[in-house]
Amino acid sequence: MPLESFKDHWDRALSHAKADPSRFSLFLNEEAEPEHGEKAHWFPPHLKIEMLDSPILNSKVLDALEDPASLTKHRVLTYAPVGDASEAVFAGRLRHEIRHGEQYDALGNQILMLGDLTDRVLRLRVGGLANSAPYYSLQPLELDANAASAQFLRESYGEFVDQILESDDGPLARSNTLPGDLRKLPAKCVAFLYLFREEAMSNESPAKEIAIDAILGSIAPELNLIWNELEANS
Ligand SMILES: [Zn+2]
Repeated sequence: MPLESFKDHWDRALSHAKADPSRFSLFLNEEAEPEHGEKAHWFPPHLKIEMLDSPILNSKVLDALEDPASLTKHRVLTYAPVGDASEAVFAGRLRHEIRHGEQYDALGNQILMLGDLTDRVLRLRVGGLANSAPYYSLQPLELDANAASAQFLRESYGEFVDQILESDDGPLARSNTLPGDLRKLPAKCVAFLYLFREEAMSNESPAKEIAIDAILGSIAPELNLIWNELEANS
């Protein structure tokens, strides 16, 4: 399906984010959307993409994403929508992924490292267990992106919100409140990791034999101070 058909949703999502359209590009996987698995993904500018373990990324899409004209931009990849309600879901996904771009612009690479860390710790806790998706939606970066998409959906696609809330895409619309201060996201990630303290500190954790505070310290020096405060005062 041609990209042009959906440009309105993209433009609306960018405008809601007050994002510079020249810095973001949209890519569609034109295959039928699979029932399970990742439905949308954001790639930061300049990042050389490794093949994800996800059906959303195939070699045709990868070529387009790594085209020199696109490489310098925030790149959002998703499936083309089918039907009115799915256009609203599509728009919500776009706003969600654009918010990841805003997080990156505000905070840089630490956002990639913290997202990877919270994801890995969750895998230790609930990886491979049925119906674990709500845990992943509670990661601070996801809560923030879903608060942005929920606000956008309520403002621009209000008649579809109840239907979206009942669906597997419900997290996109599930927030009564606005996204918070982006500068507070790294501390929220440390607080989230502390919820899974034993997994974060286990020998099987992403930290392996390195202490979690050292990993956090290598991401940003102030983050290990937050972890140590929690550990010392609890
Ligand atoms: Zn996300």
